[in-house]
Amino acid sequence: MDLAEYKGVYVIAEQFEGKLRNVSFELLGQGRKLADTIGDEVGAVLIGHNVKPLAQELIAHGAHKVYVYDDPQLEQYNTTAYSKVLCDFFNEIKPNVFLVGATNIGRDLGPRVANSLKTGLTADCTGLSVDDDKKTIVWTRPALGGNIMAEIICPDNRPQMGTVRPNVFKKPEADASATGEIIDMKVDLTDADFLTKFVELIKMGGGGIKIEEADVIVSGGRGMNGSEPFEGMLKELATVLGGAVGASRAAVDAGWIDALHQVGQTGKTVGPKIYVACAISGAIQHLAGMTGSDCIIAINKDEDAPIFKVCDYGIVGDVFQVVPKLTEAIKKH
Ligand code: FAD
Repeated sequence: MDLAEYKGVYVIAEQFEGKLRNVSFELLGQGRKLADTIGDEVGAVLIGHNVKPLAQELIAHGAHKVYVYDDPQLEQYNTTAYSKVLCDFFNEIKPNVFLVGATNIGRDLGPRVANSLKTGLTADCTGLSVDDDKKTIVWTRPALGGNIMAEIICPDNRPQMGTVRPNVFKKPEADASATGEIIDMKVDLTDADFLTKFVELIKMGGGGIKIEEADVIVSGGRGMNGSEPFEGMLKELATVLGGAVGASRAAVDAGWIDALHQVGQTGKTVGPKIYVACAISGAIQHLAGMTGSDCIIAINKDEDAPIFKVCDYGIVGDVFQVVPKLTEAIKKH
């Protein structure tokens, strides 16, 4: 493989029902920084049906070029068909780097594409940089239960690929005056490329605000002692603040709340304006998912709980007394 033939940092832009996911913009911001360091361009690959109007939004957020695969067959995400499209893109355009969001779709698509292209993939990255050689991407991710950060490289294969956690990087400001190239790509799919058939979309989570997109998150831990406070007290505080309810893994494992709400290393990475940690001790694996929050408020009855080391405001007290008072006080304002 002649590595010099492979150019460009490409973000796999993820959209759902005609709306681009925030992670696509976050990756464009990082992709642009990597490309600037390498002395290269950043582009996006946009796949779906009736998605071309979204290309300008990607340009406004940093893409120099957007390659669009727009076809009725691609309306719903399909693992094998989308993989085939990305392999076709790789063979035609020869990208150096593929950045994929570590979302449900990205975690499904990324490894399959990497395997088909016989390259490596670093999963669930939380940091990206360029090595001193100005061409190798250094992918950083938590390892060994979150106790160390591993730096992983894939210097001899192309594309260099990784999935990157949503909400780790800030979304860049949009520049409506930015210009770029929008390129229509040929979709070359047969029935054999669809190993599964889309039957029905069933939306989970009751349609409320998702934690990964919430400006305010009120999270509960093992100290909540059951599911009732999640549906009552915590939900009420989250609602008055216009936010969503999150949870530690201990609360999820106890079956008090669905895993969709789990924050942390094996849950979601979140980056709200306000994160309220209620009866959560602050284990390293929980912190891995929420320290990017702008303001952290911790409520814990143990004044030595590690969460107090990372919070901006700490309340030492019983959540069952503090949270209802907080909710009442906010309602009055
Ligand atoms: P605890 O650590 O038991 O803390 C409960 C806290 O509640 C205590 O600090 C206590 O003082 C306080 N408390 C109790 N009652 C009250 C009260 N009435 N008022 C106020 N405070 C009270 N964890 C995650 O959260 N997310 C992850 O994604 C995750 N991934 C993991 C991945 C791996 C590989 C491993 C090994 C672990 C992972 N964990 C994760 C688990 C993690 O190590 C901790 O076990 C977990 O975060 C603890 O949850 P907790 O803080 O709710 O419970």
